[in-house]
Amino acid sequence: METVKRESLNFIEQLIENDLNSGKHQAIQTRFPPEPNGYLHIGHAKSICLNFGLAEKFNGKCNLRFDDTNPEKEDVEYVDSIKKDIKWLGFEWDGEHYASDYFGTLYGFAQALIKKGSAYVDDLSQEAFNEIKGTPTVPGKHSPFRERSLEENLLLFEEMKDGKYKNGEKVLRAKIDMSSPNMHMRDPILYRIRHTEHHRTGNEWCIYPTYDFAHGQSDSIEHVTHSLCTLEFEVHRPLYEWLIKELEIFPSKQTEFARLNLSYTVVSKRKLLELVEGKYVAGWDDPRMPTISGIRRRGFTPEAVKTFIKKVGVARRDGITDVALLEHAVREDLNRRCNRVFGILDPVKLVITNWPEDKEEVMTAVNNPEDEAAGTREMLFTRELYIDRADFMEDPPSPKKWYRLGPDREVRLKYGYIIKCTGFDKGADGEIATIYAEYDPETRSGQDTSGKKVKGTLGWVSVKHAVHAEIRLYDRLFHTENLNDIEDDFKNHLNPNSLEINDKVVLEGSLKNAKVDDLVQFERVGYFRVDEDSTADKLVFNRTITLRDNW
Ligand code: ATP
Ligand code: MG
Repeated sequence: METVKRESLNFIEQLIENDLNSGKHQAIQTRFPPEPNGYLHIGHAKSICLNFGLAEKFNGKCNLRFDDTNPEKEDVEYVDSIKKDIKWLGFEWDGEHYASDYFGTLYGFAQALIKKGSAYVDDLSQEAFNEIKGTPTVPGKHSPFRERSLEENLLLFEEMKDGKYKNGEKVLRAKIDMSSPNMHMRDPILYRIRHTEHHRTGNEWCIYPTYDFAHGQSDSIEHVTHSLCTLEFEVHRPLYEWLIKELEIFPSKQTEFARLNLSYTVVSKRKLLELVEGKYVAGWDDPRMPTISGIRRRGFTPEAVKTFIKKVGVARRDGITDVALLEHAVREDLNRRCNRVFGILDPVKLVITNWPEDKEEVMTAVNNPEDEAAGTREMLFTRELYIDRADFMEDPPSPKKWYRLGPDREVRLKYGYIIKCTGFDKGADGEIATIYAEYDPETRSGQDTSGKKVKGTLGWVSVKHAVHAEIRLYDRLFHTENLNDIEDDFKNHLNPNSLEINDKVVLEGSLKNAKVDDLVQFERVGYFRVDEDSTADKLVFNRTITLRDNW
């Protein structure tokens, strides 16, 4: 029975549907297999949405499996961050597994291969092996240790495990084909010696399985039906299949899809780690980073990320996705969910001279024109207000070209009154210090009886009720569009202006109780999220994104 519409299926969904319809599998099992050697990035979000999404769509299961076979680079900090990020994206895993849980089983698998004559202990150093390995067009030669007896191999392998040898002194290799055109089939390493403490198994092991030996076997142990990975692993597939066949274990099948690459950024944990360690950014969760923790802190929502991933789709062709597509998804989502508030980035004082000194009038402001349920809020209109310096010109061009404020010009203060500018003062620095105006009592918003028409509408904040804040304005971390195409160091392409801090911002009084993680739109300015660096004395906002694409 068809459960999902055929034309909406991508090639992996089609494959799964065929496998279910043919009875090859009763149910599917997928897994997301991160190596805990860094924080997850937006590329991983694609793999997460795919693996968890398929399990959801086809009523199957998805495990979280940490591929923790490189003890030098791995850490529990990464394990914890990965779990947090997957949950934030809105997914829950069925089993939580670690390749290191299988070290005992994998050791047994290796012994089984030795006993079949399909693996041997090799004493050649990496360099010496490279010399006999050949090239894709030149067949390799056999290692002089390739024909050791089963007994000798078993003994040496055990001695490797027992710590008798130093790092690099011996390896365990699969005995496959030294003339295979696929270099991964030329007696690949299955186990290497690493006298390094592991973040989970401590000093229990001093030999660790390679990616190729751990990954497919872990899939098989977990009865993963569809093992999805990125295209660069396509050349590993023959080895994946060879090992499963030799071991006669559950036949997990590997299928590859294209990595997500994003313009103006890098999606590689190694490079992101370099940015963190070199202090080019404030940390893995710096809001300019393409990490899940970075975009979360910046104010991107999981819904927007998922919409974006859906739009990118799943294919087998590598390419680079325009970051504007992600930004567009974020804008659309924030437009729907964010309340509008007044935030003035470059405040200048405006005094309404015909407004009584202590009078406060309650005005009604609409929270979100896109969402009636968001309701309204009260704003206090007072004699002294802040407006944005950019909304005033001392000597403006004709009213047709300049709708905003200038001497003798009229504008509406949104949700307030129409005012007319009567003058201004300058400070010692020559900058406008105070603007003076008179309001027209007939023009209260919603109750205007004056018949006046003005084109300009300005945002404002009452001086008395203003909340002072710092905002962090982010731009793209790199100024180069395609960082896969460059020859030099990617760090040469960092945008020197990717962060600008403004600590002179004033916000309307309703933001007094803003909490970390709140998302708002400052009218006409952009979308902002309250940052973790906020204190009782000062709110800090990250600009998530501008209202329009400025690039
Ligand atoms: P990196 O190169 O950033 O270290 P990785 O592939 O080594 O990435 P893993 O932790 O091994 O990172 O990846 C876990 C899963 O996420 C793998 O199945 C991998 O194929 C997938 N993945 C990693 N990067 C991307 C990407 N850019 N697009 C799609 N899937 C990705
Ligand atoms: Mg990796």
